[in-house]
Amino acid sequence: MQRTYIDELKIGEKQKIQGFVDAKRDQKTIQFIIIRDTTGKIQVTIFKPDLPEIADVFTNLNVNSVVTLEGKVVENASVKLGGKEFIPESVKVESYAEVSPIDEHTAIDMRLDYRWLDLREGNKDLIFKIQTCCAKAMREFLLERKFVEIHTPKIIAAASESGSEVFELKYFDRRAYLAQSPQFYKQMAMCAGLERIFECAPVFRAEESYTSRHATEFTGFDIEFSYIDSYEDVMKMEEELLTYMLTKVKEEYGEVIKEKFGKEVIVPTLPFPRMKLEDVYKELEERYDFIVDDCEKGDLTTEAEKLVYQLAQDKYNHEFMFITDYNAKKRAFYHMRNEQGVPQGYDLIYRGVEITTGAQREHRYEILKAQAEEKGLKKDVEFYLEFFKYGCPPHGGFGIGLDRITMLLLDLPSIKEAMFIFRGPNRLMP
Ligand code: ATP
Repeated sequence: MQRTYIDELKIGEKQKIQGFVDAKRDQKTIQFIIIRDTTGKIQVTIFKPDLPEIADVFTNLNVNSVVTLEGKVVENASVKLGGKEFIPESVKVESYAEVSPIDEHTAIDMRLDYRWLDLREGNKDLIFKIQTCCAKAMREFLLERKFVEIHTPKIIAAASESGSEVFELKYFDRRAYLAQSPQFYKQMAMCAGLERIFECAPVFRAEESYTSRHATEFTGFDIEFSYIDSYEDVMKMEEELLTYMLTKVKEEYGEVIKEKFGKEVIVPTLPFPRMKLEDVYKELEERYDFIVDDCEKGDLTTEAEKLVYQLAQDKYNHEFMFITDYNAKKRAFYHMRNEQGVPQGYDLIYRGVEITTGAQREHRYEILKAQAEEKGLKKDVEFYLEFFKYGCPPHGGFGIGLDRITMLLLDLPSIKEAMFIFRGPNRLMP
């Protein structure tokens, strides 16, 4: 007999279900067993005098065991779970589970040790269904606009951008590194004439960060496209992409997110607000008495980032804010600069956390080379500079942290909860 998913069960017909034993209540004459599969849960009711053999099986197994049941669904208004119950005719135990070492009260680090059990609790599978929806919507948006999906190498010969923050590894008899961004290869694709590309792939950062928003390996959704006039085109592409994505997420999961995560999915209005970094600091001081040292004003501090959410809401009734006009010292060498030396790029802040860095890139060989040298980069970027010697269209792009945006969208306390498996300075297992 073919298996039926729990959310597709029909009243009255003999059907087969398969799943985990989610909960078990064993009373004197009756057992209530909750079975869970990827689509939902159902109560299995066993009246012991009628089904002594099946009752015996359930008496002797723990929650989390995996079973196959055949039987019928009947309506029963007194059952809280959907007003129906499954009356089994047979049971087969596929796998006996030991008693779980964790529960919903266990601290996050121990829960991560047993991540496969942790993910069975609560609504955690939903996190990944929603993340899938985010990535699918972004893909859809880009594919409709002539973008091509590429896959760039993660094992690379030279530290990609700055030399710091990269993991080194032994590569036969030489040294290699794990890519800290697909940046150079995205731009190589522009030089190759691919014009519009994106990639959704792992990114590695050897940063000893212990914050709720940093991981040493995460998933980057990276976009690069040619023939732009300025970084305004890049911001426009990103705000439209995110609006499309949030529209789709709201359509498909808006209600569930409100109910299970207590957070409203807000489809943003276009255009997103844009502010220069200098003006942000001015307004943070005027409105909220927030003051930072002058030496920190070339970049946005973490505390300022949080307050930007307040500012975006108070000033623009918005959850996003593009911040532009950073100090060139704080930005990557490949960002284009205007005549005044201002980098032609931005960070995008969503709900008080940076989710993206984007920019128009410098595509003119001589200028790019000079900017690299100014940052003390020479040997490591030689191969990259070569790309620009043979003609390159003006281009720009951005990278979105998929795990970060998931965390913010669902209001999760840490990026650890938004990733299937978290990697941090102290975590390499499971
Ligand atoms: P941060 O300032 O937060 O450390 P960054 O400036 O190093 O980030 P970028 O190099 O611009 O970030 O990376 C692009 C995007 O990738 C970020 O906006 C963020 O969404 C995500 N990201 C960056 N670093 C991490 C990390 N360690 N863990 C998870 N996501 C990250």
